[in-house]
Amino acid sequence: MAFKPANNIQDLQYFGEFGGVNPSISDSSTYTFLSAKTMFDTFEGNADGCYLYSRHSSPSNLYLGDALAAMEGTETANVSASGMGAITPVLLQLCGSGDHIVSSRTIYGGTYAFLKNFTPRFNIATSFVDITKLDAVEAAITEKTKVLYCESVSNPLLEVADIKDLAALAKKHNLKLVVDNTFSPLSISPAILGADVVIHSLTKFINGSSDTVGGVVCGTQEFINDLRNVNSGASMLLGATMDSLRASSVLKNLRTLHIRIQQHSKNALYLAERFEQLGLKTVYPGLASHPSHTLFKSMMNAAYGFGGMLTLDVGSAEKANALMELMQNKNLGYLAVSLGFYKTLFSAPGSSTSSEIPEDEQKEMGLSEGLIRFSIGLDDDIERSFQTMKLCMISLDILK
Ligand code: PLP
Repeated sequence: MAFKPANNIQDLQYFGEFGGVNPSISDSSTYTFLSAKTMFDTFEGNADGCYLYSRHSSPSNLYLGDALAAMEGTETANVSASGMGAITPVLLQLCGSGDHIVSSRTIYGGTYAFLKNFTPRFNIATSFVDITKLDAVEAAITEKTKVLYCESVSNPLLEVADIKDLAALAKKHNLKLVVDNTFSPLSISPAILGADVVIHSLTKFINGSSDTVGGVVCGTQEFINDLRNVNSGASMLLGATMDSLRASSVLKNLRTLHIRIQQHSKNALYLAERFEQLGLKTVYPGLASHPSHTLFKSMMNAAYGFGGMLTLDVGSAEKANALMELMQNKNLGYLAVSLGFYKTLFSAPGSSTSSEIPEDEQKEMGLSEGLIRFSIGLDDDIERSFQTMKLCMISLDILK
């Protein structure tokens, strides 16, 4: 039977303290113990079900973590204050001085900057590779490599990772495959395909209301325990903990994710097809022209579609900027970074979310100046939005 992540979320049954249909929010940073012995045992990690201190865990964060683990099909999960607050502890937990990471070269700019500029301080080296070329990935692995890192659908170029093959490679060389699934929640289930650790920036589609940052690490109980260990856990010690109030609000938004993703995907496919018909350089995994269209299809949970992200290359930074400003003036969306909002969001990654990547490397990976990244919104009348976008492009000579 196909994996049905939305059912897994829906099937969870939580009651609040007074029989509420939502779990009660744990509005405490610290918790009492009836005996000093239990407090000691909890510190030692031997008192299941007891809470110690909210940087370690809290009921509200565990509820949200359980729902996200159910969505990804992992044993458990640990939520964090941001996506970067999930990515950085995972990498520092898995790697120490002298270790090596093989990473896709097209990843979110913040992750790239962390691997390129920050982890070398701890003597952790990273090789950046074209993740779609399995030979190149394998050739970069050395005896010091501990982690294979990629995004299922990459930011911003929308390259698709072959998670099954990468998982086999990771297994062969005894590495951990860590996959950031921020661009394709529900559509792709990396853990089901063999990834060891799945990460999300909850800031994006999962929360969906652009009112908070948040993150999650989904994995085995053993790995999540390691991250939370009071003596040696990178999540516990680096301290990027999500607040309980926020965890409860993200949980409520998560329950409508399947409906939102279907609409984001439907609208994005509609626009991608129309843009392509107009002769615009359009990249969307749902288009047959996408180099990894068949691969995406082979991995996807079909009901949720190909996701809400697409890119257009309008030829120059000037044209891209003029188009984005005009689209905002016409109320087609916002010139803003981030993704997963009810309104369409657009930005030029070369000068924003990927600006951490040096210009020559941007060129080499195909990140051109005129590239606009769209996070397509939940528009009820996408045909109307398309017609207005088309008029904007005609008035700027992007379309004749
Ligand atoms: N991963 C991806 C793919 C992203 O696009 C982002 C943010 O843009 C992050 C991780 C980082 O998440 P956050 O901003 O929540 O720290």
